[in-house]
Amino acid sequence: MNIQHIRNATLIVQYAEKKFLIDPFLAEKGTYPPFPNSLRQDQQNPLVSLPLSIDEIISGIDAVIVTHLHLDHWDDTAKEVLPKEIKIFVQNEEDAVEIKNAGFINVEVLQENTVFQDIKLTKTKGEHGRGDILKLAGLVCGVVFEHQSEKTLYVAGDTVWYEAVQEVIDTHKPEVIVVNGGDNQFLQGGSLVMGKEDIYEVYKAAPNAKILSVHMEAVNHWTLSREELRTFVNEKGITSNVLVPNDGESYTF
Ligand SMILES: [Zn+2]
Repeated sequence: MNIQHIRNATLIVQYAEKKFLIDPFLAEKGTYPPFPNSLRQDQQNPLVSLPLSIDEIISGIDAVIVTHLHLDHWDDTAKEVLPKEIKIFVQNEEDAVEIKNAGFINVEVLQENTVFQDIKLTKTKGEHGRGDILKLAGLVCGVVFEHQSEKTLYVAGDTVWYEAVQEVIDTHKPEVIVVNGGDNQFLQGGSLVMGKEDIYEVYKAAPNAKILSVHMEAVNHWTLSREELRTFVNEKGITSNVLVPNDGESYTF
């Protein structure tokens, strides 16, 4: 497989000769107001430009996976530029209805045993924070990719570390794991996605996996920088386990 990190949670995943676009957030730098009640209220989202042109990002895509509908995973630019007949996988009926209302005609709810072109896609649980903030943050999912010719890939989505992430790792034994690791937060309520200690828990649960931390430094409410995570990973002696890609960087596994 090849995973190219685009920006925030947006990835291009080439897997068993199919090309997936995950969580397309494709607007130009500075298009949207900052998320409220959080750091950097003087900065517009996205904070950074795309590393590739939109044509390069969307050409040849076989399917899109949208883990939830927050702006930094599915935005107006994605709705405008993606072909209306493209296959889109979503977490539930509510999200399917919303994406169909934007004009898309080929939307499918991911299940625990979805098969797309011989690739098994398993929807996984996530928790977009801990405690009271969960009601505000809403439902999210991740996805496991499995195919006989490929290593198993787990894209965890916007989740903190909790027991369901451990269960996915125990059940599917992924060799490659993508976590959203910017420790994004509002001023109250704690982490909305993984921070460095969560990522360390993922490492302990899957010490032989390659773990990519994305969703970093791209929207205003991030609190964990790549530099801080790289320092942490270095101190723990796990630099070959936890990879911290820059925008546009790609890996083959
Ligand atoms: Zn997000």
